[in-house]
Amino acid sequence: MKYTKEYVADFISGSIDNAALTESARNLKLKYYGDKVIIRGLLEISNFCKNECLYCGINSKNLKVKRYRMNSNEIFNSVIAGYTDGYRSFVLQGGDDPYYSDDLLVRVIYSLKSKFNDIAITLSLGERSYDSYRKLKEAGVDRYLLRHETVNKKLYSLLHPGQDFDNRIRCLYNLKELGYQVGTGFMVGLPSQTYDDLYNDLVFIDELQPEMVGIGPFIPHNDTVLRNEKKGDANEILRILVLIRNMLPKALIPATTALGTVSNEKQLLALRNSANVVMPNITPNDYKKDYKLYDNKKSKTVEELISSGIKISKVKGDHYDFRKKLYWW
Ligand code: SAM
Repeated sequence: MKYTKEYVADFISGSIDNAALTESARNLKLKYYGDKVIIRGLLEISNFCKNECLYCGINSKNLKVKRYRMNSNEIFNSVIAGYTDGYRSFVLQGGDDPYYSDDLLVRVIYSLKSKFNDIAITLSLGERSYDSYRKLKEAGVDRYLLRHETVNKKLYSLLHPGQDFDNRIRCLYNLKELGYQVGTGFMVGLPSQTYDDLYNDLVFIDELQPEMVGIGPFIPHNDTVLRNEKKGDANEILRILVLIRNMLPKALIPATTALGTVSNEKQLLALRNSANVVMPNITPNDYKKDYKLYDNKKSKTVEELISSGIKISKVKGDHYDFRKKLYWW
């Protein structure tokens, strides 16, 4: 890790400025990915979840949620609709929902990959066994998103009753070993989180060397026990993204929906300086409103991005080291 704990705290909090670091982040992004933002279609396949994450609106304890899950046909047809719309990269995300057996997912992935040879499929379905990740990879999954959320073990276990931090980390290393493009990341502004914690999150990312890093502000949800807590600071996120782009120049870094929910302007600024991915929501309208992780969730459409002057690309958008020239622009 090339930054000291003190420097990270001062930089993230904004007590020191470093225009050269921001400039260097922008140049690295341009060097590896040009000036276009990669678009991934986000399909929220299920809001059932067996976990009780204190911050999350779809945690199993929230009885107010109208639960839904998409079946194989619905997933298949939504990806086809996205493809027709020009998308070539799809993220299938959901709560940790045991309904999605390996067999079911393998069938859907295999059918999609047989139909289209120019798409990337990313899964974000939580912690699964090594064997499950292996089968999914063999079926054609390209990438997996699994945020570590926080490396502060005490905070992690407070926020995730019944979950095991070490297992989450093991999952990330298993995914790496299996050859996935791996995404991790953390929330900023979690109750009691300190700058030391954020420094340790960056150290972990430096060790794991993920291909994708998603950083978002914690945003309270009114039906959770954290409803009265403060949301994360968008400026701190911008500065963390600058550090991450400098640490991992070739990483795929989304300007997250949560960041855009806190501040439209800061999400666009993230795309100017460090981030190079946005994930518009392509979930069918009937389900979209029920995948509410936090209050006032605002997902950007492709049209909104274009009208804000963002140049977009709907290519497969592999990490620089994984890309095949054939699919690149
Ligand atoms: N179940 C999968 C998992 O655990 O990785 C994926 C779905 S999970 C809902 C996706 C991400 O939403 C989590 O990694 C978490 O960081 C984020 N999230 C959940 N609740 C949030 C909140 N209140 N504010 C900001 N982000 C939140």
